[in-house]
Amino acid sequence: DDTPHVPNEKLGEEKVLHIIENLTSLIKETFPDTKVYAAMGNHDFHPKNQFPGKENRIYNRTAELWHPWLNEASIPLFRAGAFYSEKLPSPRTRGRMVVLNTNLYYDQNDETAGEEDPGGQFQWLEETLTSASRADEMVFIVGHVPPGFFEKKRGKPWFRSGFNERYLKIVQKHHRVISAQFFGHHHTDSFRMFYSDAGSPINVMFLAPGVTPWKTTLPGVNNGANNPGIRVIDYDPDTLQVLDMVTYYLNLTHANMVASAWEEEVPAWEEEYRLTEAFQVPDGSVSSMQTVLEKMSKDPRCLQQYYEFNSVRYDLTPCDEACRVDHICAIREVDFTKYDECVKTSSSASAIVGVWLIFLCLFLGLLSPQQ
Ligand SMILES: [Zn+2]
Repeated sequence: DDTPHVPNEKLGEEKVLHIIENLTSLIKETFPDTKVYAAMGNHDFHPKNQFPGKENRIYNRTAELWHPWLNEASIPLFRAGAFYSEKLPSPRTRGRMVVLNTNLYYDQNDETAGEEDPGGQFQWLEETLTSASRADEMVFIVGHVPPGFFEKKRGKPWFRSGFNERYLKIVQKHHRVISAQFFGHHHTDSFRMFYSDAGSPINVMFLAPGVTPWKTTLPGVNNGANNPGIRVIDYDPDTLQVLDMVTYYLNLTHANMVASAWEEEVPAWEEEYRLTEAFQVPDGSVSSMQTVLEKMSKDPRCLQQYYEFNSVRYDLTPCDEACRVDHICAIREVDFTKYDECVKTSSSASAIVGVWLIFLCLFLGLLSPQQ
């Protein structure tokens, strides 16, 4: 997302394109020799979220702006649907980047609501993953709006149900060539696990926190804001195995205090955490992330640590039982039905524990000397 999250009336097609242009130049200036794989966010359109599955002026203009980053073969694809796939630049790598336009699946998008495969992206993704497998390549999938649920609001998905199902099916079928998936949109820091029908972990999606400190306007989320964060991923260029992940952040409360005292002070970005250190896992692989999830669901200290990272250390309040269920179920179940079951069984499990505690208290109360 490049543009401010304000009502459509405060923006327009030209303004949105101008903002994308500004950010594109800024990234080019800062990283002149770095290959950039950019994905469109749901706010990078006007009216916001209304991404069509066909060619339009915004895709065409953005393709021109991103021309220096795109291969020739990616341009027509981008114009048609704002998705593309490219082999990583290093000559000996067997890595490939697949950049998706999942805004096509967003439930706020009325343009694609009745369609089965907007822009033909699902079919293209299946073909791309099949040929990657034939070429013995490994793939990173990058996108903005993720499948599954928002961990800060119970029962809040982003994709329309049919699109969520189709996406999951594709990951299940092609997981062997997908090293990891990287998405955003939440502004919070979390991850999602993907399982086979038999229940073994087969893939992981990392949700990177936002650079912008968005306080969500979703009703029912209490003070859901985040400190600005950026993430550096360390990976093996040959296998695309995620080795580690370091998240840097800006403590806004602190930065605002310093700025009012000394006008010239530059805000200081600090290391927030390193994945392998914070969670005591060897890397960012599927099995390591499954270990992290299991630790979180059993160990309240581990859950609390994750919870503080979730808001990039903005919300340091304790993650209570309802919070535990929201986060664990969102991480574990991307599928709509399984998520509902997870919430139901976890909540009733904790209710049963609660009832037993009441019984235990009553029992102890009966045993204790009466006064
Ligand atoms: Zn977004």
